[in-house]
Amino acid sequence: MVRPIVYWPDPILDKPTDPVTEFGDALTTLLEDMLESMHAEEGVGIAANQVGVKRRLAWVCPEDGPPFEIINPEILEKSEPIELEEGCLSVPDEREKVRRFRKVKVRYQDRTGASHELVAEGRVAHVLQHEIDHLYGTVFVRHLSVLKRGLIRKRMLKLKAYRAEHDEDCVDPSHDHGSKAHNHTHER
Ligand SMILES: [Zn+2]
Repeated sequence: MVRPIVYWPDPILDKPTDPVTEFGDALTTLLEDMLESMHAEEGVGIAANQVGVKRRLAWVCPEDGPPFEIINPEILEKSEPIELEEGCLSVPDEREKVRRFRKVKVRYQDRTGASHELVAEGRVAHVLQHEIDHLYGTVFVRHLSVLKRGLIRKRMLKLKAYRAEHDEDCVDPSHDHGSKAHNHTHER
């Protein structure tokens, strides 16, 4: 089931998520919903708090291969910094250069609770850093200057107000609008 994406600014995006402690059917359902929501918006990664769930899990899409889930991830090592342009499903239509690291070593669990370590570079490293940031309450705009962030915030507040008024599908997902709220066509 596609869940609506939470747009920044929103408190759930600005706070660290809680670690996942139960690995079972509920987790699998959440993972499947997140994957569907990510594909619906043509994203290359998604964190649980972006669909309104305060749990420490995310999806990462490599360029060549299937998406994989990261649960309770942490970055163990970082290489030299690099500036990369990025965007975010929670901050639509905004792309900015952000300081990241060329290579990262991460540890995470999968849906069975099994632990993995991965040394990544390229897009996977980039998406991993963006999603892990989300899970610790940092939207990418936090890495920008106060001025830039303020301008984006203004545009986002306008967009949120417009959507709330014209498209009830895109209002705060913590409000339950019933199943008809999910009849998106996602034509983008
Ligand atoms: Zn994002």
